[in-house]
Amino acid sequence: MDSLKQAIRERGEIINEDVLKVDSFLNHQIDWKLMLQAAQDIYEHFKHEKINKIVTIETSGIAPALYTAQLFDVPLVFLKKSKPSTMNQDIYQTNVHSFTKQIDYTLSGSSSYLNKEDHVLLIDDFLANGEACLGALNILKQAQASVAGIAVLIEKAHQKGHQRLLELGYEVYALARIDTMNSGVITFLEEES
Ligand code: 5GP
Repeated sequence: MDSLKQAIRERGEIINEDVLKVDSFLNHQIDWKLMLQAAQDIYEHFKHEKINKIVTIETSGIAPALYTAQLFDVPLVFLKKSKPSTMNQDIYQTNVHSFTKQIDYTLSGSSSYLNKEDHVLLIDDFLANGEACLGALNILKQAQASVAGIAVLIEKAHQKGHQRLLELGYEVYALARIDTMNSGVITFLEEES
């Protein structure tokens, strides 16, 4: 997706060769036009699937996932990174290791909103080593939901997430695939996987 690549090049900050900061349009301030374009791209790619639910992980997946849910005209469920006191019964949970924060957290989702009738498109902001997506997939497995595919806005292709998800048989669609972030220069792989 050219506009996303352009935003990454012009507005992204390379923290180190493995971490990109995109607070100016995705992780803090949100560029809604860019998120809408991302959602339209994701919708075009997966519209042949009978998706009845979009699932993402709070917080930064929510903006693109919400627009995507609107296009599919289905609900959006965001998995929570901590268990709220109001979520008491029939909760699916799993542990996830955070790549950027270097901590483990518990991902939670309620059986009230995820079940075996669901055919889900999973959306996240970044794909690095795949831990967040694998955690979300674990929750979907507990819910016995089926998975149409996984869409991420930014994949860092030099990390192992994409390969891990492919090996498990999932389709991974990344809108911008970063190859390297060395010496202050970002290079991209081809647009689609
Ligand atoms: P993974 O679980 O695939 O290793 O990492 C993906 C998760 O970590 C994403 O949900 C995102 O929150 C965060 N993440 C991974 N790499 C980056 C990065 O380079 N920049 C930012 N801002 N977040 C990242």
